[in-house]
Amino acid sequence: MADRPTTKSKDLKKPPQRPIGFIRQFELVEMVRAYDPNVDEGLLNKAYVFSMQAHGDQKRKSGDPYFTHPLAVAAILTELKADPQAIATALLHDVVEDTPVSVADIREQFGDDIAEMVDGVTKISQRELASKETKQAENFRKFIFAVSKDVRVLLVKLADRLHNMRTLEHHDNPASQKRISLETMEIYAPLAGRIGVQRFRDELEDLSFKYLNPDGYETITTNLDKLHETAVHSVVEFSTAMRDLLHGSGVAAEVYSREKRPFSIWRKMQRKNHSFDELADIYGFRVLVDTVDECYKTLGIIHQNFPMIPEEFDDYISAPKPNNYRSIHTAVLAPVEADGRRQRVEVQIRTREMHETAERGIAAHWRYKDPTAKMLGGGKVIIASPGRDDPHEWARKAVDQLQVDEDAGEFLESTKVELFADQVFCFTPKGRVIPLPVGATPIDFAYAVHTNVGDECVGVRINGANRPLRTVLKNGDIVEVLRSENAPIPDGWESKVSTGRAKNGIRMRIKRLELDEQILLGRRILESDFNAHELIMSDQAIETAKEALNLNKVPEVYAAVGQLQLSAREVREAAFPGSANVDDAGPHRGTAPARTALVLDGLTPGVLVHFARCCVPLPGERIIGLQEREGIFVHRIDCDALGTTQIDESEWLDLRWRDDGPGEFVAPIKITVINSTGALGHVGTLLARYDADIIDIKLENREVDFSDLLIDLTVRDARHLQNVLTGLRATEHVISAERRRETQLSDA
Ligand code: MN
Repeated sequence: MADRPTTKSKDLKKPPQRPIGFIRQFELVEMVRAYDPNVDEGLLNKAYVFSMQAHGDQKRKSGDPYFTHPLAVAAILTELKADPQAIATALLHDVVEDTPVSVADIREQFGDDIAEMVDGVTKISQRELASKETKQAENFRKFIFAVSKDVRVLLVKLADRLHNMRTLEHHDNPASQKRISLETMEIYAPLAGRIGVQRFRDELEDLSFKYLNPDGYETITTNLDKLHETAVHSVVEFSTAMRDLLHGSGVAAEVYSREKRPFSIWRKMQRKNHSFDELADIYGFRVLVDTVDECYKTLGIIHQNFPMIPEEFDDYISAPKPNNYRSIHTAVLAPVEADGRRQRVEVQIRTREMHETAERGIAAHWRYKDPTAKMLGGGKVIIASPGRDDPHEWARKAVDQLQVDEDAGEFLESTKVELFADQVFCFTPKGRVIPLPVGATPIDFAYAVHTNVGDECVGVRINGANRPLRTVLKNGDIVEVLRSENAPIPDGWESKVSTGRAKNGIRMRIKRLELDEQILLGRRILESDFNAHELIMSDQAIETAKEALNLNKVPEVYAAVGQLQLSAREVREAAFPGSANVDDAGPHRGTAPARTALVLDGLTPGVLVHFARCCVPLPGERIIGLQEREGIFVHRIDCDALGTTQIDESEWLDLRWRDDGPGEFVAPIKITVINSTGALGHVGTLLARYDADIIDIKLENREVDFSDLLIDLTVRDARHLQNVLTGLRATEHVISAERRRETQLSDA
């Protein structure tokens, strides 16, 4: 915001700007000396020459020598009364980026502080090239604070951006003009506002506005020009009236007229849905006094003499803004009619000190050593009163306050900003900034990049080297996620991730994987069951079943079976109503004499034979037959039931398995599994690998951590069953696997 005495009405339109053409060496020194009598001339001269030589005959897009740019940036910083080190940094800010000079060279020539600052500016510039998406704005803003160990880095960067915006017309590509303007509007202007450098913010906004919305900019500036012609007279009159009133009451006030910037008018028109003509405070006045008391005295005098507009009143002296802005804002009806109407005008009242802070922000808190201190180190910034005025502390406080700042208009999207102290900033190999909480791991990083990246994360390279996934990330790490479509869920992942996003991502993935497994298992169970009943298990059959079962989709049927909420028998009955009542033809029933005859030697032809349910014998096991009323029952020779039966051993029938018999026999087993992802899937996969079909399955004794599964399998013989059981015991998540003594599931 440009201030100018109202008496010089000719100057109203253009804000005064320092000439930023080719400033000569001694001129720059004089510009600094104007506010810092102890200026370190040697440093400035050295940086001037060094930069000029480094940039050599490089040219800008405008055709000007490149060196005019760092020089202009340095000049802009003198407006903030920056210290010589910051000015030197401005002169050197592009040499590392654009010339063969290294940070080490700068360190050697100019010492650690300046080298660090140049390095900081260079890093921000490199990151900004990488940021394309609007979403990056937030990340980038955080990043700026993180790398700004020295707040002067930010000031140099802002001045750099300001000069680039001022010369953006020389950029030949309209698309990149817009991109740069958008970045300026979204990142740099709010940052300038945040650290209180209002004049940077205003100009950055106006310049961006011009490229982002040329029509809007044109409309506003045309209207402002018209208003000027008609209003100059009343502006002068009103400010004179105000000054006379104040002087008459003994307040030594200066009164300035203040013209709103095009973008702030535009924003207000949009926010309040006002037309240009309706805006109360296109003309504003600023009253500068010496003390806070005089501020309130001035306010009283103005309100006594001009009608105030209540909804426009704000007291930022008793309640300063988060960036420490202090001032009283009020609006009144001016006595002079402009353009045939009574003019509403805004008046800002503040002390000169408050004004200094508002214009220069953080920079206003710098103090320079007194002449006697020069011997001790000379020209260095000192902190007037550590704590309150420490620029770093101040920046940190400003950032803290972002969290409680409710003025959403200040930032485009400031609500989510978190404390930077709790964050680390890492990068993708392409340079995208990923802010993470302190303690975050590569898994957190992967999920922050994208859910798919998290789901497929199997390893990581940090700064080019392979590292474990549990590694805690540090500021500035470049993280490359190694991916695979079949990434396992990381073991003990709960202790390896800290962001909610990663936790949710993994939980969702576990659920999906579980569902996949359940669907697979369900299919397998149904296939076995249908086969055993000489029915064909097809999606079509299940399509029919799902209607009867009141489910929406075919996979839901599989999943319900896999989750053991539905039995295969229920699904089969739903698909083929009545099939469950048909006499079972499955091998596990073993009731058909003809089939039994095929597998056993030593039978009297025509005799009815059953496999006893108490021991369910398998080929390879020694067996005997017992003659009962219903026929012959086949038992294992070690069956417990034999001990209790009345039949004498002498009546046991000697039976043998036929070597060439067809091999499908039911084998009931019981396994105990840990309740975890993958348990059922592992069991299903293993059974398939051993070629053992699931005929039926039932969940029993489900507890928090363990469950028992009762499964009826088909196997070829006892040895096959032994192999299956051994395999199961070797399977992850399986605690025990044993043969059950009796079949019971299929009759349920
Ligand atoms: Mn630059």
